Amino acid sequence: MDEYFHSVRLISDRCKGCVSCTKRCPTEAIRIRGGKAQIIESRCIDCGECIRRCPTHAKTAVTDQLADLAEYAYNVALPAPALYAQFSAEIGIDAILVGLLNLGFDEVFEVAQAAELVSLAINDYMARGQASRPVISSACPAVVRLIQVKFPELIDHLLPINAPVEVAARLVRQKCSKQLNLKPEQIGIWFITPCPAKMTVIKQANDLKSSISGAIGISKIYGDLLKAIPTECPNPRLHKSTWQGIGWAVAGGETSTINELNTLVVYGIHSVSTALEQVVMGKLTGLDYIEALACAGGCIGGALNVEDRFVAEHRMKQRKRTMETVQEAGELDSVGDYSEVLLSGERPPVEPKPVLRLDDDIMKAMSKVEEIESTLKRLPGFDCGLCGSPSCYTLAQDIAQGMASETDCIFKLREKVRDLAQTMIELANKLPPSLDKESS
Ligand code: SF4
Ligand code: SF4
Repeated sequence: MDEYFHSVRLISDRCKGCVSCTKRCPTEAIRIRGGKAQIIESRCIDCGECIRRCPTHAKTAVTDQLADLAEYAYNVALPAPALYAQFSAEIGIDAILVGLLNLGFDEVFEVAQAAELVSLAINDYMARGQASRPVISSACPAVVRLIQVKFPELIDHLLPINAPVEVAARLVRQKCSKQLNLKPEQIGIWFITPCPAKMTVIKQANDLKSSISGAIGISKIYGDLLKAIPTECPNPRLHKSTWQGIGWAVAGGETSTINELNTLVVYGIHSVSTALEQVVMGKLTGLDYIEALACAGGCIGGALNVEDRFVAEHRMKQRKRTMETVQEAGELDSVGDYSEVLLSGERPPVEPKPVLRLDDDIMKAMSKVEEIESTLKRLPGFDCGLCGSPSCYTLAQDIAQGMASETDCIFKLREKVRDLAQTMIELANKLPPSLDKESS
């Protein structure tokens, strides 16, 4: 089985084994064993749901840090549009970008600008009418991974266009190599990310190489950035994106730029999973496009943000109003020269990772299915999670896979202890009277 890099990790000392995370993981990737959570790496999609749910903050996401900039001669920050929502709307986007320069980046390139390009490319692609519908947005890496792991039959529906951050990285890398006469490996390109899943995509050795050098969590640099933002910003405009691109930070922002009538916006990893199930079952007919985002409310709900998502959404609305008043003009109005970084040949192929499969050998898999069904009949069906598996069904699966035993279920354990106690009493009653006297 492939090795997986994961951004989401357990801080073991803090884990109390409370099972909050096991019950909420969308791919049933967490078990409690020996009183501590364990992530089954091949199942984890780095959605960050367990980070949000853990009451003791025992889950965290590993990202890069500002010190890593020292490895490169020239560093470019790619701020996610969600970064702008972490600051009050009185702080202009230009000031935030200057703040990033003050932190040590040599240049900034807004991911929102690339999102505008991707919107144009999506409209081109949809107008060709050749796609398997509904087309599912590939912008959210946790959703792409969910499809790989849980819904491999939907891979053909994924939009074959690079996500905005990847487009931004490719454009800026090309531009810097040409203009600054630098080798690509001398240029560090850093996504300022609201999302652990992006870190995983960048570092995942088994996927085709990303143009992004690393990802720095918004929460990791927020304090320093706040101090680095100037109170006045006389700089020429660094900020070049329009609401069309910035709006991608909020659920619905992407589809608002698409000319298709039948679109569905779904967010929150469990709702996304339910919607994809409905697509597989053929119940969502007549849809052209699905914008699916793992985090509640979209990227503004990402686990690496610092601001509450409702506050963030409110701030984005305030920014939108200001931008409409100011009529800020985008610079990108056609896919034109950018098609090579946008279209399918450039995007890593998405391979299925059907880790929920019981066995590669069909006969063994069928016998495990039978074992699961018969074990399930003996389990109580409460789905309490006290065994450390998220449900009775997953415990039955774990038993069939040799990862657990029936007595991990406390009800089965109690039954077994009671039976043993009964047997002991019966055996004690059978002891010969002479032995009784000797022992007294
Ligand atoms: S939510 Fe999960 S990681 Fe957090 S304390 Fe409970 S079992 Fe441990
Ligand atoms: S990050 Fe998501 S998929 Fe991975 S263990 Fe946590 S909840 Fe499960």
